[in-house]
Amino acid sequence: MTVDDLTVAFGHGRNRLVAVDRVSLGVPHGAALGVVGESGSGKSTLGRAIAGLVAPAGGEIRLDGRLLPPRRSRSDLRRIQLAFQNAGGSLSPRMPVARILGDAVAAAGVPRERRRDRVDELLEAVQLPTTLRDALPGRLSGGQRQRVALARALASEPEFLICDEVTSALDVSARGAMLNLLIRLRRQYGWGLIFISHDIAAVRQVSDDIAVMYLGRTLELGPGEAVVAAPRHPYTRTLIEAIPVLGEAPAGPPDDVDPPDPRHPPTGCPFHTRCPLRPRAEPAGARCVTDEPTPITRGLPHHAACHFPPPLERT
Ligand code: SF4
Repeated sequence: MTVDDLTVAFGHGRNRLVAVDRVSLGVPHGAALGVVGESGSGKSTLGRAIAGLVAPAGGEIRLDGRLLPPRRSRSDLRRIQLAFQNAGGSLSPRMPVARILGDAVAAAGVPRERRRDRVDELLEAVQLPTTLRDALPGRLSGGQRQRVALARALASEPEFLICDEVTSALDVSARGAMLNLLIRLRRQYGWGLIFISHDIAAVRQVSDDIAVMYLGRTLELGPGEAVVAAPRHPYTRTLIEAIPVLGEAPAGPPDDVDPPDPRHPPTGCPFHTRCPLRPRAEPAGARCVTDEPTPITRGLPHHAACHFPPPLERT
């Protein structure tokens, strides 16, 4: 999977919102990319655009080298599946599990006589007992509902899976179990994975590479280990410092400043209004306000869109 200069915009004129702004990234076959950022960073819109659910305003997406058109065919839509956040809300409350998965299996073209077995296979794949076939979503725990949503995404045997905040509503133990399940399934099926979350610790657990997004742009992209151990962008550092440590109060947001309005992003570096490392002296500080750092292109080893990144460290 390769994405180049992808842009997604909503609205017009003063209300135009560029939710994804010239994003470029690549996910090698069978690899996992984590996409992390705060609410409003554009990470979910990026996932929806890659899945073909939102039409981009510019840029291109390729799978196995083939350009995916803005209007996807049914078979292209089946190749890339999206498991949504808030699984409870995306499952019909009146439909039992077997019907939810049965519909997905039928849409994937499985013959009628095979559908029951296929539903059981999907339940088994996500480690749910087949005794839950007749259960309504409201009777399931949050972790079980999320697994049903994942099983539904797997029904079409996708080549690529996008998981959007699939662990955010779960408690600690259900979250750990879900992350382990994703790691196991990825190894088993060999699909490429984009794992989207605001939680950089969860992202690190399942991802080979990590992209850090802010106001629709990629601010840092590199190997997961390097991005977490030696972040090169001040924004990534603030995300890592906010990871709760047992017995310690988490660090607050940078400079205690709210994120800017995405409809009117700051000039120059989008992070300059919150950056604790921006040089205060002229002319270096002025550069952060007036000049946009070079956008990240894919294929670089570990890059940060910052005028003053620390040197690359060996990790
Ligand atoms: Fe901070 Fe300037 Fe780098 Fe932006 S370009 S992250 S404001 S130091």
